[in-house]
Amino acid sequence: MKGIYLDYAAATPVDRRVVEAMLPYFTKDFGNPGSLHSYGQRASAAVFSARQTIASALGAQYPEIIFTGSATEANNLVLRGIMRRFPKPRIIISAIEHESILNAAQDLVQNLVDPVIIPVSKEGIIDLKKLKAALNEHTALVSVMYANNETGVIQPIAEIAKIVKEYRNSNIETRKKIPFKIQDSSFEFPLFHTDAVQAFQYLDCTVDSLGVDLLTISSQKIYGPKGVGALYVRSNPPAGGIGVNREYPIDAAISGGGQEGGLRSGTENVPGIVGFDKAVELVETMREKESQRVCELRDYAWQGIKKIFPNAQTNGSLKDRLPNNLNFYIPKMLGEKMLVALDLKGIAISSGSACSARSIDPSHVLLAMGFKNDRAKNSLRLTLGRPTTKIEIDAFLKTLTGVL
Ligand code: PLP
Repeated sequence: MKGIYLDYAAATPVDRRVVEAMLPYFTKDFGNPGSLHSYGQRASAAVFSARQTIASALGAQYPEIIFTGSATEANNLVLRGIMRRFPKPRIIISAIEHESILNAAQDLVQNLVDPVIIPVSKEGIIDLKKLKAALNEHTALVSVMYANNETGVIQPIAEIAKIVKEYRNSNIETRKKIPFKIQDSSFEFPLFHTDAVQAFQYLDCTVDSLGVDLLTISSQKIYGPKGVGALYVRSNPPAGGIGVNREYPIDAAISGGGQEGGLRSGTENVPGIVGFDKAVELVETMREKESQRVCELRDYAWQGIKKIFPNAQTNGSLKDRLPNNLNFYIPKMLGEKMLVALDLKGIAISSGSACSARSIDPSHVLLAMGFKNDRAKNSLRLTLGRPTTKIEIDAFLKTLTGVL
């Protein structure tokens, strides 16, 4: 039997059109974008085109797009890059962030960063009152993901942006008294970052409508190649000037040849960036229709699961969630066992987030939502994607009955 893959939040296959766009950049147009000759110019033009496509998708300016080697790296660049501007900065994050934020924040405690972790409700939504109360004049950054990778639950990003902005405006005078390096900067802090890795495919991620200063996306979650991420960084043109020499509100986390506006040195992954360009272009043309299509299939899958297991419960409501995500718990069922049994029948689903799925620890996201260890350990996640069909969902439901 052909396998059925229902784990698209973990990885997506690279779209054939993406592969085709990438191929010449492995062999024919292999130049280094930093070289002055025509080989270099062709590679540089391809990177420029990708920067423009992604900037346009985010409603940003092209020098504000910084290519990285992954979303993990982009998230780390935000936290490590801001830390270099502040003595003892406070960084406010939610309890359900991806490990690339949570663990980076914990690592930075040794650099005197003060991470504050804001709880979420039973539905998986951040507590806005607690977030507001945590803001103080030492706060350099607020980072809250747009949609969670395990539950798909969508956070009120525009509302958080409003809270951060209000605080920022009310705090300008207080800040002037603090001898921060930021005194020399034309930016007001705290900055607001969102990890939009899971959201980008389905939700509007234009940075002005969200009100964010930094935003992370990843190629590998949108049918592009692995090993490429991008960080949007709100920036200012140089004093009195225009052009690419921007002033950024964060510093580089690594040193080198000064690529990517000096924020991410290292020769650009040109084929990967070209693939990312094409993948973003495809998302932009398909977003609305595809969201509706997978949402209908997801709801159909849930009705089917409820017929087999009437006591199954979703983790978080189905309302404020990505259209392709179903995260649920079946009382008295062992999640890992179900996963293995389904895998033996050729069906791939997940019991947690991709990056921590190999661990048997209970999900930190479900624990943060107030669920007990058993539920946090034994819940299952289905995430649908472009290749998912009703035939596949029917086959999954049939197999699920059999596995019982
Ligand atoms: N952020 C979110 C929300 C994710 O889901 C993931 C990966 O699953 C990442 C960040 C990290 O992405 P990558 O593994 O491409 O670095």
